[in-house]
Amino acid sequence: MRELNDLIRDNVRRLKPYSSARDEFDGEASVFLDANENPWNAPYNRYPDPMQRRLKERISEIKGVAMESIFLGNGSDEAIDIIFRAFCEPGLDNVVSIIPSYGMYQVCAEVNNVEFRVVPLKGDFSLDADALLAATDWRTKVIFLCSPNNPSGNSLNRDDIYRVLGSFDGIVVVDEAYIDFSSSPSYITELSRFPRLVVLQTLSKAWGAAAIRLGMAFASPEIIAVINKIKYPYNVNLLTQEMALEILQDEKCKMKQVKMILEERSAMAEALSGEPFNYHVYSSDANFLLVDVGDANRVYRWLLDDDIVTRNRNSVCGCVGCLRITIGTADENRRLFESLRRFVDINTVER
Ligand SMILES: *Cc1c(COP(=O)(O)O)cnc(C)c1O
Repeated sequence: MRELNDLIRDNVRRLKPYSSARDEFDGEASVFLDANENPWNAPYNRYPDPMQRRLKERISEIKGVAMESIFLGNGSDEAIDIIFRAFCEPGLDNVVSIIPSYGMYQVCAEVNNVEFRVVPLKGDFSLDADALLAATDWRTKVIFLCSPNNPSGNSLNRDDIYRVLGSFDGIVVVDEAYIDFSSSPSYITELSRFPRLVVLQTLSKAWGAAAIRLGMAFASPEIIAVINKIKYPYNVNLLTQEMALEILQDEKCKMKQVKMILEERSAMAEALSGEPFNYHVYSSDANFLLVDVGDANRVYRWLLDDDIVTRNRNSVCGCVGCLRITIGTADENRRLFESLRRFVDINTVER
């Protein structure tokens, strides 16, 4: 059984982090002459809080997670990249993940020169926990899982995830970017039971704030301390911290929008799986549908000609024939539906 210290890269374990002016003095004062800031242009002249404390207090309230267990970054993508840099020795260590899934795990692995091992999901996109564990070895530092999974839309089976958490002694990341659309609960409540678990969430999807770039990682205080040690000092800017606080004030608004998206999702799933389409629509716990439309390349271009952009997943492992369609407003969804109906009308051979 490896200790957390055995998982951290040697250079990171030895690292003495950069200490910023705001790290060395974080109290109240009336004259700040310590950070070489311009004294005018308040409030934008000042460096932002490097630990985003007010924002973390609010997130702590909403999520029921202690502030010491929260990392905030420039999107969840920053958290993903930092996890590689903290734990994976380039050229030596490896990570294991599933396919099809979110592309950033592999991109970050390649950027960091870390071997990326993939285990295909089964035909119904369920997790093969045995195969996943069999793909690990003593050089495997991290397992990346995504639930609900992008692009398949399904949540991974809970017992399978518990098996992975119970049998693997490295870091297990569960990416929950779509958790607010899901009928199954978050793994945040399992953090105390599984000290190597890292849960990723984001403001980019249900909270409707992809533009401000705010991602969240939840983990043991020890893991968060490692991540904080190597993050850029001011990784979340003031505008993002303030706008995030404002957005997080209105949880009701998010819940209302999620409800509308879920209603649209079921209407869309029903419409596309019925006459005249008879498409196979994979069941979704997210704000998109993976739909097997047959000739995905042709349907993709047809929709594009109608000014409608979907994600063509035809060349992704396990997704031949599939488009990934985000749920939009009722109006946008109707336009998609009507365009597809015209496509089917024109392409159905009279008998
Ligand atoms: C959209 C998405 C994210 C969000 O990334 P951000 O950097 O927070 O915008 C993370 N993971 C998955 C699987 C996603 O689909």
